[in-house]
Amino acid sequence: MQVGFYGHVRQYHNLKAEIDKAIMDVLETGSYITGPTLERFEHELAQFFGMKYAVGVNSGTDAIWLALMALGIGPGDEVITVTNTFFATAEAIWIAGAKAVFVDTEPKTNNIDVTKIEAAISPRTKAIIPVHLYGQCAEMDKIAHIARKHNLLVIEDCAQAIDAHGDTFKVGELSDAVAISFIAHKNLGTPGDAGAVVTNREDVAMGVKRLRNHGSLKRSVHSFGFNSRLDDLHAGILSVKLKYIHEWNNRRQQIAKMYTSALKDTSLKLPYELPGYRHVYHLYVVETTNGKRDDLLNFLNKNGIDAKCHYPIAIHQQEGFPWGKEAQIVGGVPNSEWNAANCVSLPMFPELYQEEIDYTIEKVLEWCKANP
Ligand SMILES: *Cc1c(COP(=O)(O)O)cnc(C)c1O
Repeated sequence: MQVGFYGHVRQYHNLKAEIDKAIMDVLETGSYITGPTLERFEHELAQFFGMKYAVGVNSGTDAIWLALMALGIGPGDEVITVTNTFFATAEAIWIAGAKAVFVDTEPKTNNIDVTKIEAAISPRTKAIIPVHLYGQCAEMDKIAHIARKHNLLVIEDCAQAIDAHGDTFKVGELSDAVAISFIAHKNLGTPGDAGAVVTNREDVAMGVKRLRNHGSLKRSVHSFGFNSRLDDLHAGILSVKLKYIHEWNNRRQQIAKMYTSALKDTSLKLPYELPGYRHVYHLYVVETTNGKRDDLLNFLNKNGIDAKCHYPIAIHQQEGFPWGKEAQIVGGVPNSEWNAANCVSLPMFPELYQEEIDYTIEKVLEWCKANP
């Protein structure tokens, strides 16, 4: 049996009539850039988050660095984040011209270890970018507390966690800006690149809106900016899919439950859900504890299961790091390195068939039995 890693095409087939119509509707409006379809989607997205503003941009990467820029962060400033994340989190800091300061993650959730943040704060520190890795929120309440105490800004990298929430907080309410990605393989994805900044701060929303459109909020009037708009075609497709995201994430949780209950007695370290948090399982990541990660990955791949690793090379382990950019690791990052060395992502998308889930479980169990 072949088990794929992504469900894009199945999802498209399930929604074909609606998505095709959304595309045709945009084509017929003749308004393809910052048109009414984008405006409608931004409104729906802000409502979905229960926040005041959503501004569509070209990608999740741009969402992070345009938010940084709109918040006035640039050369001379330091931004604290983690190194076991998609490369773009740190890249965005460097694009903004700031220095990335990496702290370790906490091994249960693989999210930023909040007890390590304060040691990394210097007089130059301006912001923290917690990453809601794999679909579970970082401990925003504790992060917001530290940020308030030291007068720091917080930008949530929510590329993997749309529709997640904490025990006492929702995404966005404890930060200055939230960055989202709609690239095809994210929980809410469009066939292409897209992203958004969600915020309650009017100055940030207006700042990003200006920066994404050549520094222009008014026709023919410009200050310095870029071209990073979310186009109306993608907005139209995302508008259709936004209606289903909660339901899809519930299905991801169901699949995660099946994996967890089947694998709980193996030597694998399984995803840990913080009490009261809604984990939306962008990825279901197990970690080997016998040092045989590559072997597990090869075994699954050889058996037709398209398992992957997120992320096998942490940012500071990339060749050439830091490419002349400003970067610093404070206090060591052993947990992040352990995560990079042992992680395996099992197939996880709402359109998985039961027999694919069962087959994946069967093969993982078979490997675990042979590799205690
Ligand atoms: C996907 C992702 C991004 C970047 O999003 P793009 O839309 O690909 O630019 C940033 N951070 C994390 C954690 C991601 O998973």
